[in-house]
Amino acid sequence: MIGQPIDKGSFVLPIRPDLMGVRSYGAPQLDVAARLNVNENPFPLPDELVDAITDSVRAVVSGLNRYPDRDATALRKALADYVGTQTSAHVGVEQVWVANGSNEVMHHLFLAFGGPGRSALTFTPTYSMYPEYARDTFTGFTAIPRNNAFSVDLATALPAIRELRPSLVLVSSPNNPSGTALPQEDLQAIAEVALEQGAMVIVDEAYAEFRRRGTASALELLGRYPNLVVTRTMSKAFGLAGARLGYAVSADPSVIDVLSVVRLPYHLSAVTQAVAHAALEHSEILLSQVAMLRDERDQLLGWLVDHGFVVAQSDANFIMFSGFDDRDNVWQALLDQGVLIRVPEPAGWLRVSIGTPDENDLFRRALLVATQGTSATEQNTANQEGTP
Ligand SMILES: *Cc1c(COP(=O)(O)O)cnc(C)c1O
Repeated sequence: MIGQPIDKGSFVLPIRPDLMGVRSYGAPQLDVAARLNVNENPFPLPDELVDAITDSVRAVVSGLNRYPDRDATALRKALADYVGTQTSAHVGVEQVWVANGSNEVMHHLFLAFGGPGRSALTFTPTYSMYPEYARDTFTGFTAIPRNNAFSVDLATALPAIRELRPSLVLVSSPNNPSGTALPQEDLQAIAEVALEQGAMVIVDEAYAEFRRRGTASALELLGRYPNLVVTRTMSKAFGLAGARLGYAVSADPSVIDVLSVVRLPYHLSAVTQAVAHAALEHSEILLSQVAMLRDERDQLLGWLVDHGFVVAQSDANFIMFSGFDDRDNVWQALLDQGVLIRVPEPAGWLRVSIGTPDENDLFRRALLVATQGTSATEQNTANQEGTP
């Protein structure tokens, strides 16, 4: 814990008062059989890609005596091309921003559009980092609860935007931790009111590639709302969480200009740019696992329902579920069997990331053991009677 007075004569670290006693973000990083707690892609990079990335990095190593391309222009161009394959909207390099993970992209957005005397509005339960970006940038923060289906409740959301007049409205869609995607017409209603009030709308699409057929992306709306920014990442579907590469696509190129004012100089290393560039050139190999992970998700979701658990609908590579008395006991019993999952914000729920088929099997078996005797499994035993 920081903020404890250190006895060095009379010296006390002059830490910001609002940071006293605050603990750093930390989902457990444990070496267990199935790590299903931070929504990573469970597959190691295929050899072909390992070679391509290694070659790409090798090509920049001798030039590491120089600073990297400050504007990461080649990489942003490649991202604009990739995004172009994902949407009917035209996306130019001047609309794309890159940073070390979409977390840093968000931080930049808060630096540029938040600040003292301003506020951000979001809809909870949602990504636990949002209040931290607000704290770091002295931006006010308001959370409006989602409804029982973990959808944004427009009846409270729209008046809140009008009354609070935030400069940033943040929507995670598909939402972490619930997995639910925001219907396009709801996003339009939010963007409309935000536009009227002069607010930016940031749609965090970290899980966009996992969405179900028929679920739209906010990218489609870029032509309609000049206040819209969509953030994405290579940490999830692309399986590159370790590379730290996130990006944003903005409707208005001026957004990118202001982000380049608040970033630190040379924020994205030449090595990161080389890794991401090579990965994008082979995006079809990386994304080939996505279809399989989506199938695994749908199967696991059906299995959870069949076994009496309550689930939130998921357009992501994780599922939030409930239907047990003591979630902390269930979480621990799973961990005792080598399965690490997440205790998310809403009370009574757990969240599991989709792993490899073997990991998902292990999770299923471990969950039945962990919830033995709870109402969900009793119902399950009843359901199973008479089945072979
Ligand atoms: C995982 C995640 C991110 C991605 O963060 P990176 O910094 O790109 O690794 C962003 N937003 C949400 C909601 C996430 O769950």
